[in-house]
Amino acid sequence: LFIAFEGGDGAGKSTQAKLLAAALEASGRAVLLTREPGGTPIGEKLRSLVLEHGQGEIDARTEALIFAAARAAHAAQVIRPALAAGTTVITDRYVDSSVAYQGAGRELGEDRVRELNEWATAGLHPDVTVLLDVAPQEARERRADNAPDRLESEPDRFHQRIRQAFLALAQARPEHYLVLNARLDVATLHASVLARVGELP
Ligand code: C5P
Repeated sequence: LFIAFEGGDGAGKSTQAKLLAAALEASGRAVLLTREPGGTPIGEKLRSLVLEHGQGEIDARTEALIFAAARAAHAAQVIRPALAAGTTVITDRYVDSSVAYQGAGRELGEDRVRELNEWATAGLHPDVTVLLDVAPQEARERRADNAPDRLESEPDRFHQRIRQAFLALAQARPEHYLVLNARLDVATLHASVLARVGELP
């Protein structure tokens, strides 16, 4: 079972991914909770590389290729082996984040970025994608920490493009997505996620 959490900055993906991992572990499943960018030693280095440099410092195509490279390593070295061993994999971000951030946010084109990532992952897709949808303004207002993310460095219109791109992906394949309003409380969201995951074969 392969589950991806997606959504804009500050949507609460990490919280929900952790809660789901804990719940599935408690029910006796082997679970691997991982994240992107990151997930492997190389991926974590690539994550720091991109996040340490502000927008404009890294050319958009370079950025897309770095994220795709990190994802290729993640898919080949972490996700596939875990799935093959029967472990449930939960990832905090996956291909949709690149389609949204680099394809729509940085305007490289959603289809191209998707194709690049199809190749990078050799076509490895999640069984279900949980999209935590939040308006950029709300995410900004409820941000708890001061992690240097793109809410700080990018204007609302950048985040609006990303939000619309995520929603368009979900609308194109509704059976594959669980779209949740990220403003709902943590426990309510977790219950919806658990119910959806429980429906998977
Ligand atoms: O998911 P997380 O908040 O840890 O992501 C770290 C940062 O990387 C965020 O600011 C996010 O906007 C950015 N990011 C990105 N493009 C991606 C994935 C994440 O710009 N494809």
